[in-house]
Amino acid sequence: MNNHLPKLLALSHEIGRADRRLAILGEGNTSTDLGDGTFLVKSSGSSLSNLDESGVSRVNMTAVLAALDDETLDDHGVKSVLEASRSDASPRLPSVETFMHAVCLAEGGAKWVGHCHAEAVISVLCSTHGAKPFLSHIFPDAIVVCGRHVAVVPYIDPGLALAREVRRALREFRAAHGTSPKVILLENHGPVALGSSDTEVLNILLMLDKWARVLAGTLAVGGPKFLPSSMSDRIDNRPDEHYRRAQIGKVAN
Ligand SMILES: [Zn+2]
Repeated sequence: MNNHLPKLLALSHEIGRADRRLAILGEGNTSTDLGDGTFLVKSSGSSLSNLDESGVSRVNMTAVLAALDDETLDDHGVKSVLEASRSDASPRLPSVETFMHAVCLAEGGAKWVGHCHAEAVISVLCSTHGAKPFLSHIFPDAIVVCGRHVAVVPYIDPGLALAREVRRALREFRAAHGTSPKVILLENHGPVALGSSDTEVLNILLMLDKWARVLAGTLAVGGPKFLPSSMSDRIDNRPDEHYRRAQIGKVAN
């Protein structure tokens, strides 16, 4: 497990910090791929802000992913799958969003995943605009940190149904853009950050939070002035921005 567990706990604490207003109480969850067919994920009912080892489950990737293709599973069956998926002696049940985390780790090109209910972001996602304001960019750093495009999933029942929709969205995104997104926006719910490192996941969530606050600010002063898509493409492809992206990913938080 190397240092995955302490890093996952530290990432969870950063996301759960009260001053950041990204998650309160049991909101949000984090995960990381251990590379041996298992991954760590927050347990159900744990709080990100004070997560400790007892609030983390180690689960079997194959067992969790198999549930996505089992159309016969009801709520009771889902609970049984989660109970049986644990590859350690953890008495806590993995989060119901374990299915979504498995999809992001297995099909989203991510090694680390963070999901939260960031106030500023869901203010937009819960508005009549939904995720639409995030489909164009308003400033360069969001492109550099959050990616040129974001994936969107309309509201759906959390758990297995959500994981299936996230899988569909990831596959559609890959077909359209040839890569995986760094951000999935769950409408009327919250954002998901897909990163190659714990640092990248936190950076994505913090920049997305700022992006949402700036968007809300622009709506108060006449509305956002979106960058032309050709300009956003240019920023996305500039060599110096690639360099900056790599450097930002290394910054310790
Ligand atoms: Zn959630």
